[in-house]
Amino acid sequence: MAQKISIVVPCYNEEECVNAYYESMKAVIARMNKVDFELIFVDDGSRDKTLELVKALAEKDKQVKYISFSRNFGKEAAIYAGLQNATGDFVGLMDADLQDPPELLIEMYKGITEEGFDCVGCRRTDRKGEPKIRSWFARKFYKLINKMSDADITDGARDYRLMTRKMTNAILSMAEVDRFSKGIFGWVGFKTKWLEYQNIDRVAGTTKWNFKKLTKYAIGGIEDFSTAPLKINMILSVLLGLGAFGLFVADIVMWCIGVAPSIFMTISPLVCFVGSLVMLGSAVTSDYIAKIFRQAKNRPIYIVKDSSFEK
Ligand code: UDP
Ligand code: MG
Repeated sequence: MAQKISIVVPCYNEEECVNAYYESMKAVIARMNKVDFELIFVDDGSRDKTLELVKALAEKDKQVKYISFSRNFGKEAAIYAGLQNATGDFVGLMDADLQDPPELLIEMYKGITEEGFDCVGCRRTDRKGEPKIRSWFARKFYKLINKMSDADITDGARDYRLMTRKMTNAILSMAEVDRFSKGIFGWVGFKTKWLEYQNIDRVAGTTKWNFKKLTKYAIGGIEDFSTAPLKINMILSVLLGLGAFGLFVADIVMWCIGVAPSIFMTISPLVCFVGSLVMLGSAVTSDYIAKIFRQAKNRPIYIVKDSSFEK
């Protein structure tokens, strides 16, 4: 039996792109005629004609499937729903706006079936057409999150990728509510090949992102994959403790050389010391919160790629 590729396409108000996307994708499917395809459109609560268009496609084409949300739940939810319903041996993710060139699928498929990769993803090599300040923040964000978390997150990586069934199942085994796909892809591991290309503008319509949403997304991503921010209380406790000690020594020295410390100098070591104790208390609480957070995420303790125990 021929192998099957499922492609998950999250769509939110993409009436201007759906048909153009479908046509380009069908051309690629025709070129990859040895493989079966399944195109899963996930309508993320669109308010335009996206769902009608997708339904019309599903009616005339058996390869087209759809899921439609009751409201807009966000791209991450749409990706998860698509992955849950995908039945292919290989599963891909692609945006509906043709910023992810469908023809790259041919190379992606080769990367997995002939070169032994578990996943082939796409990275854009430039941030052309993006405000400079946004690019600056984006680069800083990638540096920061890679330092703070154990997920390997590639700068410029798009969500466009093709994965094996094993990797897809590993991603599905991470059933966390706050889904930060860029982190999840990196966290599950597996061997990934990166294809690079220059940024392409969307075929029609507008991006759903703005600076506020991106900032929220970036902070959320760090929170989902790192408990390092919870360490701030411990750092403050140590700093305040050192401050208390320094000020106390300064007071003693002043007494010894016969200079009476001001009222401020007399009470500040005490204030710092009390502050340090309070911070220490909340640092201990933070440590437990970090443990509860990790447990609540209920992530797999490990992910097996290969084993003689497997059927
Ligand atoms: N999208 C979605 N739900 C949302 C926002 C976006 O399903 O709440 C889809 C959108 O329809 C598109 C993809 O996610 O297919 C990427 O969105 P967009 O092009 O706005 O992001 P960008 O390419 O600018 O990062
Ligand atoms: Mg886009």
